[in-house]
Formats: sequence, structure tokens, C-alpha cells
Amino acid sequence: MEPGPLAPAQRRTPDAADGSGVQRYVLPLPGTVSILRAFPCQAPAVHAEPLESPQHELILEPVLRDSRFRLALVKPTNRKLCINGERAPRVSLVGEGDQFEWDDTCVFHVSIFHVPQIGPAPTGRSCPICFAPFAAAADTVCYRCPCGTVLHLSDATGLECARAVKSCPTCKLSILLQEGYTWLPEFCHE
Ligand SMILES: [Zn+2]
Ligand SMILES: [Zn+2]
Repeated sequence: MEPGPLAPAQRRTPDAADGSGVQRYVLPLPGTVSILRAFPCQAPAVHAEPLESPQHELILEPVLRDSRFRLALVKPTNRKLCINGERAPRVSLVGEGDQFEWDDTCVFHVSIFHVPQIGPAPTGRSCPICFAPFAAAADTVCYRCPCGTVLHLSDATGLECARAVKSCPTCKLSILLQEGYTWLPEFCHE
């Protein structure tokens, strides 16, 4: 499972196409450090490469912390960041379902797109659930947690260990076998 974090943004403008006064954008984030730019009258944008003047930008980095995907935010001292309505310190961590406002331009909602890592068995290792070594057969399919732990998903003898447990035995991260969002802001369901 890989985080494909994303911040659908709601932008307050008077001339939105749907007449609600709000324009919405989806901003996929790269898995590494990126920079968020949001200016009045412009669509917010994420840049994978740092710009020349990062002291004016909000820096974003997806991190895995306490078995949960988080987004680290680092703001310059002279700009305003609010998280869930509260003034945020220079460095903050947000998670799925949190929202933040950057310089009063936009409201960003943090969602996570899960992509399960499913593939062939690693050689010379055993499954931590059933303790059986992974068979080197082509029909052995395994689930790999972001922490590196590998579990049977299916094999010739019927082992489906990744389906038998809800979370990784090593890092306790939830095992999600379906690709998709686990949470989206309410306006995405309208
Ligand atoms: Zn197993
Ligand atoms: Zn794990």
C-alpha cells in the first residue's frame, strides 16, 4: 500500500462555474517533499521541485508516523496557516480528514489514496502470520505493507493471511486490499 496523498482544495471565488461561489481542485502530491503555492485569483499548485524562494511557500512532505500516513507541513514564519480552524505552529502534522487554510486563499482537505502493493513472493522469507516460508511458485501472490512486511494473499495451498488479519502484525497499519480513498470530504459525495 502506498500513500497517494491528495488535497482536494476548495477555493472561495465569486464566479465559480457551479454558482456556489466555490471552485474545487484536486492536488495530487508526490511522495517526496513538495511546495504548495496558492495565490488569490490563481489555481493552487503543487511543485515537486523546491522553488528559488521557499521562504514564501508551504512545504509538504508525506510521512509514515505511528502506523498512519501523515502530511508534514512547514510554513514560513511570515505567513498564516490554520489547521482545523486553529492557528498552526511552524511545523505541523496533519492526517486524513484534517483541513488547513493557507494564507486565507483556500481550504485544503487531506485525503489518502491507497494503492495496495501486491506481487510475487520474496525469496528466503516466511510469512509472519502462518510462519510458512513463501513458496517460489508463480501462483504465490503476496501483500507487502509499506513497512516491508510481506503476507500471503493467495497461494496453491490456500493461504490468504493478508485477508485473515485487519492490520500488519509488525507496524499495525490497516491492511487495505482495495485501491481507493478511505475518506473524502463531504462535497465529493454531492
Ligand atoms: Zn501466511
Ligand atoms: Zn507493516
